Formats: sequence, structure tokens, C-alpha cells
Amino acid sequence: MNKKTIKDVSVKGKKCLVRVDFNVPIVNGEITDVNRIEGALPTIKYLLDNNAKVILCSHLGRPKGKFNLEFSLKPVAEKLAELLKKPVIFASDVIGEDAKAKVSALKEGEVLLLENLRFHNEEEANDKDFCIALASFCDIYVNDAFGTAHRAHASTAGIAQYGLAKESVAGFLIGKELEIMGGALENPKRPFVAILGGAKVSDKIGVINNLLDKVDTLIIGGAMAYTFESAMGYAIGGSKCEKDKIDLAKELMAKAKDKKVNLLLPIDHIIADAFAETANIKEVAVGDIPEGWQGLDIGTKTQKLFAEAVKCAKTVIWNGPMGVFEMKPFAGGTCAVAKALTESQAITIIGGGDSASAIQQLGYADKVTHISTGGGASLEFLEGIVLPGVDCLDNK
Ligand code: AMP
Repeated sequence: MNKKTIKDVSVKGKKCLVRVDFNVPIVNGEITDVNRIEGALPTIKYLLDNNAKVILCSHLGRPKGKFNLEFSLKPVAEKLAELLKKPVIFASDVIGEDAKAKVSALKEGEVLLLENLRFHNEEEANDKDFCIALASFCDIYVNDAFGTAHRAHASTAGIAQYGLAKESVAGFLIGKELEIMGGALENPKRPFVAILGGAKVSDKIGVINNLLDKVDTLIIGGAMAYTFESAMGYAIGGSKCEKDKIDLAKELMAKAKDKKVNLLLPIDHIIADAFAETANIKEVAVGDIPEGWQGLDIGTKTQKLFAEAVKCAKTVIWNGPMGVFEMKPFAGGTCAVAKALTESQAITIIGGGDSASAIQQLGYADKVTHISTGGGASLEFLEGIVLPGVDCLDNK
């Protein structure tokens, strides 16, 4: 990576403002998933061990620019203290009197968490005065929030874009994401297989386009596949299909042929007579979906076909479920792909979002090389877009 990281600067005694991604699910005041907090620990611990003064900031949910206790980061401060096994000072505002007082009283080796950045509309608006107020807290700005690195907000990009901190560097989490995903995209061990699923072709055009320039095999499942099947003249019944993307699907298939990419599409499907868990279900070959029925998952022959491609791969990137995995009868394809990845010897990368939840729910999280912490950010990265939260950081 050509961006400076916290290891490239001297942090001792310095006030480091660290943008983390503490946007965790909270139900009745309880944090139900601590993954994102754990993801930030290596950076926080490194800074504390090296006697920095650590000021953390994050957003949580969508409080729409208003102070709202329902979206307070206080429960996160408590959980972080538990995980770090040391006190975490909490500021009850972001750039207000409490934050200012606590920042100036902060000592080396101490950690402070500011209140939810999105209590200010200025955060998402990348307002310069808000950036100045945040930057006044620090000597060094550290971005470690990969999940929001595709957004040019005040705390994710503005401080560095406006040159307001003496140094602007990446934390370990962003460093790891870029190294693993960037490494796979730029210099993959081959065969390189990408598996894309999910709801819409339109959401993933950029990713498909970029990956067609890089992969040996591109697998397409999920609802996206029916637009391609329709483009090939197969009957798809009432399956999801983006009619206005059929020509594009044809172009993408032509590009795959041109680039000699092995494009794998489903050869059979699990179909249902309604979009419901309790619907009648059948397994049919591609092209055999009758009217009144819709494809909601890949079939068992497709599971084997996709698993076989994964077996031969040396690098695999997966983004998006193979079917409506939220409903048990249509989760088989997604589970099969997840299992194939865990059994593979390849570098296996899960590009965030639903595939990351699926891998975690199945208990396979420690059996893959890397699970990206950013859904939208990892998609944009796979698309080849330069992330503003990374672009703004100091070069080595
Ligand atoms: P995305 O956010 O694009 O990754 O899409 C994820 C969503 O796609 C999930 O909520 C799935 O239920 C949905 N999905 C996957 N396959 C199908 C399908 N065959 N029909 C309808 N929805 C699907």
C-alpha cells in the first residue's frame, strides 16, 4: 500500500483522532454484534501501547443531524472498556464543551470516545468548519473505518482533504483491507474466481465490468442471474428480472467471451409458486421455470458446478447471496457456496454485506482468509473506484 499507516509516524504523546466504524447493532441498549468494535482494537491498542492520546470518533445509525440518545455511542464506550480492559472516557457531545474539556485533559495512554458524529448534519455534508473543529482535537488523523471509506464525510475524508491535521494516516484495519483485497485484484494467485450474487444487476454492473478484466472465472447467482438467463432466451417465469438491463447482460456476456473469462451461470434452480417460506417448491433445469413460479435459489447441480470452480481456484472473492437466503428453503445455494469456500485452499475473501453475515451465521468466519468489514466500501473497491477515505491519506 502506498499510503502511510500509523506505523509510519511517531505517535508518542500525540493526540490521535481515529475515525473508527462503531456502527454496531444495538437492541434494547445491548450490542448484539461486537465484530466492528473488535476490528478496531489492533489500532487502538497499538496507539495506547505507544503512549498516544487516543480520541475515537464514529457514527451510529441515522440520527439525521439531531442529538438523540437512542443513537448514543455510550453503550459502545462501555463495551470497548470491557474489551480493552481499561477505562474509556466518554464525551457527551462531539465538538462541544464536554468534548473540548475531555480532549484537553486527556493523558498519554488514555482513550476517549466522542459522541455520535451524525448528531451533526455537518458530518455527512463534509462541512469545513466542522472538519476544523474536529481537527483542532488532534495532531494526527487516523482513518480506520473501512465501512465508511467510500463516503467523503467530514470525519472520513474532509479532515485530510482540507489538510487540517499534521499527518493523515491509515489504521491497521484499513491497511489490512487494502492489502488483502488490493493484493487479490492487482496480483491474484490464479485461477482467480469471483462469485457475485444478490438482488440487482444494476447494483453490480461496475463490479462485473471491473472483475471481467481480472478474473479467470466469473460466477453469477442470486436474482441477478435471471436477467442473464432472460438475455439468453431462457424462460424465467415470474423470477426477478431487470428488463432494461437485458441488453447490458448481453454486452457483459460478450465481454466475458472476448476476455476469455469463463462465465458460469446457474444450470438449475429452486423455484416456488410464491415469495414465501411456505410456498410450494420444485427444482427445475434452467429455462424450465413456468409462469406463476419464480426462481429463489440456485439448484443442487449448480451448487456442485460452483463448488467445483471454487475447488480449482487459488483466489476467490465472493459478494452477494445465491438466493433468498433469509428464508430457509432458499438458503441452500448460499450455504453451499460458503461451505465450498471454507473447504478451499485458496485465498478466500468475502466482500462484506450479506455474504459476510451468511459466513458468520454459519460459523465459518475463521475458515476464510478475510471478511471485509465494509459492504458498500468493498463493492466500490471491487469496482475499481478510488475510495475517498483512502485517497485523502498521506502517501508514503
Ligand atoms: P444485494 O444487497 O444486492 O447483495 O442483495 C441481497 C438480496 O438479494 C437478499 O436480500 C436476497 O434475498 C436477494 N435475492 C437473492 N436471490 C434472489 C432471488 N432469486 N429472488 C429474489 N431475491 C433474491
